[in-house]
Amino acid sequence: MADTLNNPSLLDLTFSGLQELLVQSGLKPSHAAVIWRLLYRGSWDGESRAPRLAATVHDWWDHHRPLPVASLGRSVATDEFSEKYTIHLLDEQVVESVAMRYPGRNTACLSTQVGCAMGCQFCATGQMGFRRHLQPSEIVAQALLLQSRLMEAGVGGLRNIVLMGMGEPLHNYEAVMTALDILTDTRGLNLGPKRVTLSTVGYVPGILRMAEERRPYRLALSLHAADDALRQAMIPVAHRWPLGELIEACRIYQRQTGKRIFVEWTLVEGVNDSREQAAQLIEVLHGLDAHINLIPLNRTAGYRGEPSGVASGQAFQRAVKAGGFPATIRQARGLDIAAGCGQLAGAV
Ligand code: SAH
Ligand code: SF4
Repeated sequence: MADTLNNPSLLDLTFSGLQELLVQSGLKPSHAAVIWRLLYRGSWDGESRAPRLAATVHDWWDHHRPLPVASLGRSVATDEFSEKYTIHLLDEQVVESVAMRYPGRNTACLSTQVGCAMGCQFCATGQMGFRRHLQPSEIVAQALLLQSRLMEAGVGGLRNIVLMGMGEPLHNYEAVMTALDILTDTRGLNLGPKRVTLSTVGYVPGILRMAEERRPYRLALSLHAADDALRQAMIPVAHRWPLGELIEACRIYQRQTGKRIFVEWTLVEGVNDSREQAAQLIEVLHGLDAHINLIPLNRTAGYRGEPSGVASGQAFQRAVKAGGFPATIRQARGLDIAAGCGQLAGAV
């Protein structure tokens, strides 16, 4: 554990961070471009000694362990559209990432923490509790792994990133933003910032900070309930930030960034799929530019709720649409391999 956390990997560094490290090591910052290409443009396989480096840089490279994941230890579960990777980190913690294949827009669902401190009852990650934050390198490495697997499979590279795996990204703000800076760097993987979606449980300080820093990513808000009592029953951390405060943070975010907010709503039968909830949702979101994503509950071991039936999901969708908000029901994916939303939990 100490080793993982104290010895930064090259994948923890932004381009300018890499340049600084080279200078501190008495090397020329101009080596950064070659090293960056090796790391992010697929000319190095992640295992062998790096080719095409000057002798002085070779020793330096060997000294700075480039990958934080034990030989990218991985097991893969596959269904028609999704591949779930179980990644063993150096301290033997485990995270999961999912590659979702959509023609022309392959999407990586990445984890940002081992476990999660927010404790949502219906979520397998919440049920396991919080173990630790991921470092930037551990987030970046998930994307690199998925990218290389997609390329090997000949189905094109990564287009989209969603931070909807294990953990609450805004609770690990610095590491997540560094990782996104790295993944969207045009000299490297070059993922479009608008193709990155960060999903939050409603971590208000993080939303405000994204607004202030005008982060260019898409923001998804896991709302799930339109009154405080129900929201607090589903999401313990909602006690800390009542709906009024949360929605105000979203308004500030929208004023600062001009960006639409994607509201996520996990439909649980008889819990949050009523007409009343739909009506209250419309009221709560009044004046916001929001798109609502309805996600039928995926089953997890520690929660008794059932997914809403098709008819009640569609009725809820119709109601919010009639209230002026675009709404879609998300396709279920990866359920056979427990790779659906909220089903990720390391096996260890
Ligand atoms: N912590 C962040 C991101 C990870 S969860 C967040 O909560 O937004 C990604 C999405 O999956 C969230 O919208 C979350 O509410 C949803 N989710 C969690 N458990 C689920 C389940 N069992 N079924 C369906 N969606 C679930
Ligand atoms: Fe954490 Fe998100 Fe799961 Fe809630 S839904 S426990 S915030 S990962």
